[in-house]
Amino acid sequence: MTTPDVAIIGAGPAGLIAAETLAAAGRSVTVYERMPSVARKFLLAGRGGLNLTHSEPLELFLSRYEIDQPVLRRAIEDFPPAALRAWAEGLGEKTFVGTSGRVFPEAFKASPLLRAWLRRLNDTGVKFALRHLWLGWKDDGSLMFLTPDGDSSINPRASILALGGASWPRLGSDGSWRGLLIARDIHVTDLRPANCGFTVAWSDVFRDRFEGQPLKAAVLSCGVRTSRGEMVITRTGIEGGGVYALSTALRDELLEHGYAVLNVDLRPDLSISDLIQRLSLPRQKRTLTTVLRKAAGLSPIAIGLLQEGAVRKGDRLADLSPGLLAERIRKLPIELNGVASLGRAISTAGGVAFDDIDENFMLRKLHGVAAAGEMLDWEAPTGGYLLQASFASGVAAANGVLRYLAR
Ligand SMILES: Cc1cc2nc3c(=O)[nH]c(=O)nc-3n(C[C@H](O)[C@H](O)[C@H](O)COP(=O)(O)OP(=O)(O)OC[C@H]3O[C@@H](n4cnc5c(N)ncnc54)[C@H](O)[C@@H]3O)c2cc1C
Repeated sequence: MTTPDVAIIGAGPAGLIAAETLAAAGRSVTVYERMPSVARKFLLAGRGGLNLTHSEPLELFLSRYEIDQPVLRRAIEDFPPAALRAWAEGLGEKTFVGTSGRVFPEAFKASPLLRAWLRRLNDTGVKFALRHLWLGWKDDGSLMFLTPDGDSSINPRASILALGGASWPRLGSDGSWRGLLIARDIHVTDLRPANCGFTVAWSDVFRDRFEGQPLKAAVLSCGVRTSRGEMVITRTGIEGGGVYALSTALRDELLEHGYAVLNVDLRPDLSISDLIQRLSLPRQKRTLTTVLRKAAGLSPIAIGLLQEGAVRKGDRLADLSPGLLAERIRKLPIELNGVASLGRAISTAGGVAFDDIDENFMLRKLHGVAAAGEMLDWEAPTGGYLLQASFASGVAAANGVLRYLAR
């Protein structure tokens, strides 16, 4: 194996954009990746349309990250959403702003963008070493890999770790790097699910009827945080965009108290008095379910949730006054009893702590080693913030390495 100036470990968006930045500056770069092909999670993100970034003003954009990390903030200011869009367009993939302000490539998937990107990387001389599982460092500082041909090691002038988080481990990022860094005295906070689902003790009847179905047009809330996205019923609980948007608050509540309550407003567009009026109309021979569906405009899944809530409370919807029923429609509590597994989360919170990273994204305790992407200790909701931070930190780490090499 020839030794490059810079070894990049991890061929996700953070590692690949770091490789592009270094190669453009004339450095020899090899990207080491454990999987037989690159950027598997990026391709999976493409199945959902590939929400690259967001079009909102930069200050608002930056406020979406859970903790204000000056190093990450500077990286995004230096490589902001406009730069990411220009980069995609430079690869022939025009982007557009969706109604929610989110930015997508027109192709609405990742594969054409990735193909064009890999062509550019090959043209600029970036080398790839696939099926190379990084195993840590030897005593002399060289990087160790397990390859199909056995063990191998290299000692480049600098390296960038871009190993991702720990969700969807079958795509390659499994967080196994955490122990390797902790053994080197690097501060790595616990890896926790982010943009994740939660477990709920559904009754068998409810689960069998509604598993896989989305609740739409509701407003979900946890404390002062609210979200209008969709909530999907799963066999063990809930998931979906609306739930992910509140997942940091819900997860932290659960970790602290052992449970969390998600409040669901099933008719956010109707006032309590409107609802009472509709629910008080003479029923004639209609069942309560028909009244809830026709007069209150509730979907079958919304009615199912109300019934499930009544079972929990030990009462019957039919016994509730229109006033109590209206209140429950506007604020239905769902008790969450656990966080769905990290393996199924969209992203990972926690990682390499920023107090162990200098302004060049280099690890303070390991000479010539930088880190970038989702493996760093930041978290953000879905909406393009994850890819934007991965790209921006990849560029920043590469520029940091360039400065380090020039010293
Ligand atoms: C279903 C889903 C949908 C998503 N949709 C979006 C979206 O629309 N918008 C958005 O902003 N974000 C989205 N994300 C999140 C986004 O894909 C990630 O934040 C992003 O890919 C992180 O980039 P990264 O380069 O840091 O890590 P990764 O993309 O995880 O890449 C890390 C690479 O390192 C390799 N690796 C790990 N350990 C080793 C090792 N020991 N040796 C060698 N190689 C190793 C892995 O195989 C992997 O290829 C989505 C995620 C999922 C799961």
